[in-house]
Amino acid sequence: MTLSVLAFRGPLPALTDTDGQPPRAPARPGGVWPRAILHADLDAFFATAEIARRPELAGLPVIVGGRRGGRGVVSAAAYPARVYGIRSGMSIAEAERRCPHAVFLPVDGAHYGDLARRFRAILMTYSPLVQMTGPDEAAIDVTGMERVSGPPELIALDIRRRVREELALVVSIGLATGRTTAKIAAKTAKPDGFRAVPPGKGAAFLAPLPVAAMPGIGPATERALHAMGIKTLGALAALPDAQLRARFGDLGPALARHARGEDDMPITVGHVMKSVGHERTLRADTRDRAFLRATLAALCDETATELRRHGQTARVVHLRVRAGDFRSVGMQTTISPATNAQQVLLDAAWALYEPCIARLGWPTVRLIGVRAAGLGGGGAQLTLLSDRPERLCSINAAVDAIRARHGTQAIRPALTLLTAEHTRNHADAREPTPQPPRAPHG
Ligand SMILES: [Mg+2]
Repeated sequence: MTLSVLAFRGPLPALTDTDGQPPRAPARPGGVWPRAILHADLDAFFATAEIARRPELAGLPVIVGGRRGGRGVVSAAAYPARVYGIRSGMSIAEAERRCPHAVFLPVDGAHYGDLARRFRAILMTYSPLVQMTGPDEAAIDVTGMERVSGPPELIALDIRRRVREELALVVSIGLATGRTTAKIAAKTAKPDGFRAVPPGKGAAFLAPLPVAAMPGIGPATERALHAMGIKTLGALAALPDAQLRARFGDLGPALARHARGEDDMPITVGHVMKSVGHERTLRADTRDRAFLRATLAALCDETATELRRHGQTARVVHLRVRAGDFRSVGMQTTISPATNAQQVLLDAAWALYEPCIARLGWPTVRLIGVRAAGLGGGGAQLTLLSDRPERLCSINAAVDAIRARHGTQAIRPALTLLTAEHTRNHADAREPTPQPPRAPHG
């Protein structure tokens, strides 16, 4: 293979030059990297985190997402489980069918959150320009950091060593001159690998990959590209901008640029929260509207609390409903003024319930979820525009204060108590469902 892409897998191979010597400091400031972006992605994060604190599970097909016989979905699968075709988002039941001897564990969000913060803290020691792009992945701009942190290849090596030693986790890293190529390089380096795509080599590295390898190309765009006869990123890169714009709007030429390895998207530091939400797979499919509304109230309460904790308000509320037969529908609505009050979120989300369930043909419900998007900072003053938000604002501030001292369960909206009652009558509905967009895939 003539393509000079540096890649390796496994624990800490010594990085050497072609003559077997340790790498030398670059000859000039900036080295060979006019821009150096690392993409670091923890491997099978939740599963690896569980194995890290229970070493007896090492080498076993560990699946995080719920109990055996549960109705949740796979949130993370260790590599020995992936051999059986088990992937994030698959139902626990399906995973059980494929791998009956798998070890099923519940999601421990607090533990993974703590590890994610420590992961970020490690990354921040190499560059202040760290953008978490998920709970388990980050883009790090290490351009010009040679004199402080060493060349980017060595920074990647060091991050991999420290994540292994300090967190007992495994991270794969891609290095390129742009974020998109670095992310794809990290993915192709998995598991437990590193891949550097040197300046000028991006297009050649990307060309043979299927179009779906490109972040931003989902199933719909993939189908559309296939219909145009475009199967690889190389073919996409060669398409004229005009043709792409006619079919995909501004997104088209941007995707082609990324496919050519051209990508100057900056690292955004600061708050990167785009949306907040919670959803729950019910223990039994139901048409019980009072119960569904109470469940939604609890989810809106969690969501609103998170918004307030981050000093955010939301302008968009999205409701997701999944039927007993796994068909899903989501609808959203805009709220004005922006809010972080659960009562307003609930009103907006519940107004979407009827249209959602109608679109599905009035089935039993398996999962219900709410997501707040269109986030903005501040907000308390925005809610002063009418009487009710002002009252809600002070009530919610009081709730937050009580919770800060006595814990989340110390005070709950009365409506959500219905879910507890239903739990007694219908055997539990409190199994959390991991959030697909944030559930790590690799
Ligand atoms: Mg990952």
